[in-house]
Amino acid sequence: MKKIVTIGEILVEIMAVDRGEGFTQPMSLVGPFPSGAPAIFIDQAARFGQPCGMVGCVGADHFGRVNLDRLKRDGVDISGIAVDSEYATGSAFVRYRHDGSRDFVFNIKHSASGRMSLTDNARALIDGSDHLHVMGTSLFSPRIVEVVLKAVGMIKAKGGTVSFDPNVRSEMLALPGLREALETILGQCDLFLPSGPELFLFAPGNSEVEAIGQILKKEIKAVVVKNGSQGANYHDLGSTIRQPAFNVHEVDPTGAGDCFGATFVSCWLRGMTPGDALRYAAASGARAVERQGPMEGVSTLAELDTFIADTSAPLIFRSHQ
Ligand code: ATP
Ligand code: MG
Repeated sequence: MKKIVTIGEILVEIMAVDRGEGFTQPMSLVGPFPSGAPAIFIDQAARFGQPCGMVGCVGADHFGRVNLDRLKRDGVDISGIAVDSEYATGSAFVRYRHDGSRDFVFNIKHSASGRMSLTDNARALIDGSDHLHVMGTSLFSPRIVEVVLKAVGMIKAKGGTVSFDPNVRSEMLALPGLREALETILGQCDLFLPSGPELFLFAPGNSEVEAIGQILKKEIKAVVVKNGSQGANYHDLGSTIRQPAFNVHEVDPTGAGDCFGATFVSCWLRGMTPGDALRYAAASGARAVERQGPMEGVSTLAELDTFIADTSAPLIFRSHQ
């Protein structure tokens, strides 16, 4: 089976128990939960049974331990994760507002994650992998952009494939060089997994059909657009497949896109049909939102099979060739 590697931030997430605005008053919090978009992604890939590993950096502290223990327990190769003796593990404090949107306080750039580099162990892990997944959230500083682009170059040079989830928060777009980095990775990826509005970051002023058409003119073999509770759409040059969302009670949406992506990429690498890959991915995203905590709703293949058998969501196929 093909091995997936990802690279990027590893954090703990600490959540406000009650909904409301921000963090200006003392309040009850719950956590630390293991987190960081690429870490959630790779943990889901491991639970799905895909050989996989991660390049990153944590501090020599309990927040680092929470992550290393979880990733290792679930089967992720953690040999490419360095432990920095000077900097603390990254963190994200999150509070849901009443309208469902989120307030964050991040400590990533100046945490151990910001010290990530291509160590000998990291290079060996990439050399032993077939596929690299990149998250836009991981491109948080010019130095890290350089590290990620080197990893992309390494995997492409050995004939591997790349998937890319821009996963970009609007406040990040102002970061120097970020847009250029996103464009560069888009130009080199095989599989592109944006959330709805992110599609237009790269093809502004177009309809969805036009934007997809423009993106499919590049190296990209397929585009999968994630639309939360509205489901997801798969596009390649020959077909479009619409996958409605499974009907679940949403407790915490964080991590849905990462779990969806990891399951889709794992299925794609196993040579499943796009329709089957999409169905498994949507089931994985749906199960993720049923649990509080970013990595708490990851699923095995057997759990997804049971979930799909018990929950209905029709598959609609339309070819536009
Ligand atoms: P994030 O970056 O916030 O983790 P995302 O925008 O990358 O999320 P979403 O579109 O929110 O990703 O979720 C990915 C997929 O998970 C959706 O396309 C859908 O299939 C499934 N999903 C998400 N939310 C729900 C929900 N409330 N009910 C059922 N399925 C859901
Ligand atoms: Mg996302």
